[in-house]
Amino acid sequence: MHKENILNLYLKELEQVLVKWQYEKFHARQIFTWIYKKDVRDFSRMSDLSAELRKKLVDNFTILDIELLKQLESRDGTRKLLFKLKDTNTIEAVNIPTEKRVTGCVSTQVGCKFGCSFCASGMLGFKRNLEISEIIEQVLFLKDETDERLNNLVFMGIGEPLDNYDNVLKAIRIINAPWSLNIGARKITISTCGFIPGIKRLMEEGLQLELSVSLHAAEDKIRNILVPINKKYPLSELTSTLKEYIKKTNRQVTFEYILIEGVNSDISSAKNLSRILKGLNCKVNLIPCNSVEELGYTPPGKLDILLFKDHLIKSGIDVTLRIIRGRDIQAACGQLRLEQPSADPTPKKAFS
Ligand code: SAH
Repeated sequence: MHKENILNLYLKELEQVLVKWQYEKFHARQIFTWIYKKDVRDFSRMSDLSAELRKKLVDNFTILDIELLKQLESRDGTRKLLFKLKDTNTIEAVNIPTEKRVTGCVSTQVGCKFGCSFCASGMLGFKRNLEISEIIEQVLFLKDETDERLNNLVFMGIGEPLDNYDNVLKAIRIINAPWSLNIGARKITISTCGFIPGIKRLMEEGLQLELSVSLHAAEDKIRNILVPINKKYPLSELTSTLKEYIKKTNRQVTFEYILIEGVNSDISSAKNLSRILKGLNCKVNLIPCNSVEELGYTPPGKLDILLFKDHLIKSGIDVTLRIIRGRDIQAACGQLRLEQPSADPTPKKAFS
């Protein structure tokens, strides 16, 4: 018999199942308290439920379907978790420790359709969307993996979150719920390559999420190469949609801009960037490009990075320079990918 993963359900939906089974609906809250708050992921250990109900749950539902295959720790404390899914596909998630907290980074798809030219995640193409439960399970593993409180979550792993819209949004609503992990919406960031239909839907949700847009170029000619979806949704359309998004949600948007030597990091690029962002309630996160061996991009030198940043500051743009984390274990932005089962891509020195 096919068993459903219980993590796919809202509290209300589990209550309906219980009522259908002729149980009191308050058991739903008990079950989710075990799973999300007491970290018990085994129905038979849910000691305040009757033996009969526990059996019924075991017969009908699963909790953890993904399997942790490997964990790598970077010299800077970043940890990358590699998971095997039920269909044997693999995905990755990352825990990034900062001063007082941990930020979890999760994947939303197996592979990626969007083929950004600097990113490892799209290199093997797209396989499928992740299920709601597969997204939440990554968060549970990340939560269990750390002694600190996991209170920030970024959808910046493999895949395009807004291209798996329904599953990502339901997973977020569950993660955000008080009966579940209760991670605040303002602590959850969705990152998009500029998938406009998704941004349009998102502005109607009434959620206080953070939206991050992977911009990387301020001219269509360059962005068409770096982020090919730009050919379908060019910069003028993207910025006008974001203007609407900011107005409707009353939220600031963050732009991610990776700096690549010889491509988008000179002063004329900085000028174009400040021009197209004028008047938008936004901030810019500059990221010196992480090298992905096969892709051949490198970051500019320190001076060029600082000149670029300085130009934006002088144009009145709120800008930060992102500290690179996890590079030595290929866990930094754009370095997450589908693992090839045969190869061992982990440099031994990651452990030293
Ligand atoms: N598809 C979404 C989610 C992936 S987020 C998106 O595009 O936003 C991954 C983040 O890492 C994005 O900001 C992406 O542009 C960035 N990134 C990808 N490859 C990178 C690289 N080689 N160096 C630095 N950042 C990179």
